[in-house]
Amino acid sequence: MATPPALDRAPRLSAAEAERLAEELYGLRAAAAPLSSERDQNFCLTDRSGARFVLKIANAAEPREILDMQNAAMALVPAAPRLIAARRGEEIARRSEYFVRLFSWIEGACFAEVRPHTPRLLASLGRTLAAMDSALAGFDHPAAHRAFHWDLKQSAAATRYLDLLPAARRALLDPFLDAWRKIEWSTLRHSVIHNDANDYNVLADAAAECITGVLDFGDMVHSATVCNLAVALAYAMLREQDPIAAAAQVVAAYHAAFPLTDAELESLYPLAGARLCMSVLQAAWQTREAPGNRYLNISNAAVWELLERLARLPAGWPAEVLRRATQPQPDLAASRRRHLGPSLSLSYEQPLHIVRGWMQHLYDACGRRYLDCVNNVAHVGHCHPRVVQAGNAQAARLNTNTRYLYEPLNEYIERLAGTLPARLSVVYLVCSGSEANELALRLARAHTGRKGVIVVDVAYHGNTNALVEISPYKFEGPGGGGRPDHVQVARISNAGHVAQLAREHRPGAFFCESALSCAGQVMLPEGYLREAYAAVRAAGGVCVADEVQTGFGRAGSHFWMFETQGAVPDIVTMGKPIGNGHPMGAVATTPEIAASFANGMEYFNTFGGNPVSCSVGLAVLNVIRDENLQQNALAMGQRLVEGLRELQSRHATITDVRGQGLFLGFGMTGAQEASALVNRMKESGVLLSTDGPRHNVIKIKPPMVFGAEDSAFLLERLDRVLLQLDAG
Ligand code: PMP
Repeated sequence: MATPPALDRAPRLSAAEAERLAEELYGLRAAAAPLSSERDQNFCLTDRSGARFVLKIANAAEPREILDMQNAAMALVPAAPRLIAARRGEEIARRSEYFVRLFSWIEGACFAEVRPHTPRLLASLGRTLAAMDSALAGFDHPAAHRAFHWDLKQSAAATRYLDLLPAARRALLDPFLDAWRKIEWSTLRHSVIHNDANDYNVLADAAAECITGVLDFGDMVHSATVCNLAVALAYAMLREQDPIAAAAQVVAAYHAAFPLTDAELESLYPLAGARLCMSVLQAAWQTREAPGNRYLNISNAAVWELLERLARLPAGWPAEVLRRATQPQPDLAASRRRHLGPSLSLSYEQPLHIVRGWMQHLYDACGRRYLDCVNNVAHVGHCHPRVVQAGNAQAARLNTNTRYLYEPLNEYIERLAGTLPARLSVVYLVCSGSEANELALRLARAHTGRKGVIVVDVAYHGNTNALVEISPYKFEGPGGGGRPDHVQVARISNAGHVAQLAREHRPGAFFCESALSCAGQVMLPEGYLREAYAAVRAAGGVCVADEVQTGFGRAGSHFWMFETQGAVPDIVTMGKPIGNGHPMGAVATTPEIAASFANGMEYFNTFGGNPVSCSVGLAVLNVIRDENLQQNALAMGQRLVEGLRELQSRHATITDVRGQGLFLGFGMTGAQEASALVNRMKESGVLLSTDGPRHNVIKIKPPMVFGAEDSAFLLERLDRVLLQLDAG
């Protein structure tokens, strides 16, 4: 790119001069008002009847054949303004040093200023571009074969302006420019393209949710056809909460009308990214050359914001969404209904089709991003690269069972035991929370010789026969068989009830989560576990802390939730977060209890403690430590509790706020309100769910990489949705 746009050569006519030109050339008596433009000078003309026109004035030093080409192309494109010939029949009139043209006026607002960009509007944009590209597919003109810096095929020179940017911003552009450099241009279809369907050149009718026209054919060039769509996508993504979802809507409609080739699909996202890069690079250069030119800065801030947003997306994901947008969507729900047992429900009124997870976000098949506020399994973040890498590397090297010696096992059990009170030095590795509790039950029974169990109200401990029997959440719920004789259910209002039941029934074990999950994110009263444990031990039982949901730093103040109670259990069970999604569980206990269990019958678990699981588990512990995730849980928890209390003060539907660290919840007036909130929050990009015996508690237990920005987003969305609910 040797020369900048001819900004300095743009005509500078007054409105009065434009009016004179209109009358002289077109016999049009009309009032002129200037329109913004980069290269030409444009006026809006309004005649007495109110009819409007666009008068376009170019410097006669500009090559005339470019205007010829524009006129010829515009005649073919349905969305283009119509050319109106001058009185003497000229399509391009010459007056002193100007070329003058008159066009029909297209009604509509700038796409940039129409909000929201609904799926229908985005689809209309896709169809408009498809119609344009298909209309121009057979068109050619010598002037289109030109050297032009806005042609993405020829923009390499713009990268020299990288030096004008601060290092952090340069780094942001690098991956986009790398992908663009890899484009194999010879594999792409070529044609003359509009090349500038930016959000100010596209007009829309907001009420009708459709595109009414495309303006400014000044950037036309012969290039890869797909560049036209890529340019439009770059701007369609601006200021969108879900830029890739917006792009996918455009692509789907485009592809349906004018199918993209595989090579085009593959280069679409790199080209859109490159256009954004070129936009900021040109702006950096032009700002240096012509500081104060407002036109250049119209979308610059928004482009940087978009580049930052895109840079945070999981690698390869945008391209995958765009590819999906061109493919028929399978009916996943139907095949589930046929082949999966029906005793399983889907979340949300409109179930989500999730295709990607990355840290605290999930992404659906349409490209929408959701802040995941409920998944406490993806503890250190969905697909955390260190965990993925640890599992992959070990899976590629060795996976076997615990009857061999291998380092990952020793390393892991030492590290895991190191997080626990010294007396809980013996570890069993299993594959799920249920297996952990099942084993804990066997340990307790072997140690005490007693079958009886005390559990607390609404507790859930797992999906096996023995665990359903000790889970009031299940046996008292739909399809449940009621409370078995060997099980006693304690209230959690105070530990006295546990003590009483322990004295009366002399159980083998007391199972209790250190803060209650299924019961609705309920914190135990202060001192509850200390007192309950003492009473159970006095009656000869052992105390099991179910930390399946609460462990691994989620409490914020402590690594284990039982520590917040100042209590030490005899057995701790772990699951969910332990493997960040890899199926793992663990039981820790005392050497004495472990000795009682070693009665000759071996405990063997085919998959438990395998080298891959141990490597994954170790990576999880390392990430918690290295990324200070426990401290983050403490800080974010405090921030959220404050924010939720503030929401409670303004919204009567919130009855209370509970929890600590990133184990939080809030009560709502009823199940209906809670369900409506959860479904609307999903629509606005936040995943939550309900819990508690009355299904009126909203639980918040996000991946522990949940940050300040996420907290602000969650609170802002909650406020919005609660306002809607308040309004009825
Ligand atoms: N204990 C508690 C407290 C749980 O919440 C769960 C699972 N929701 C389990 C145990 C069982 O874990 P899993 O589903 O991994 O078997």
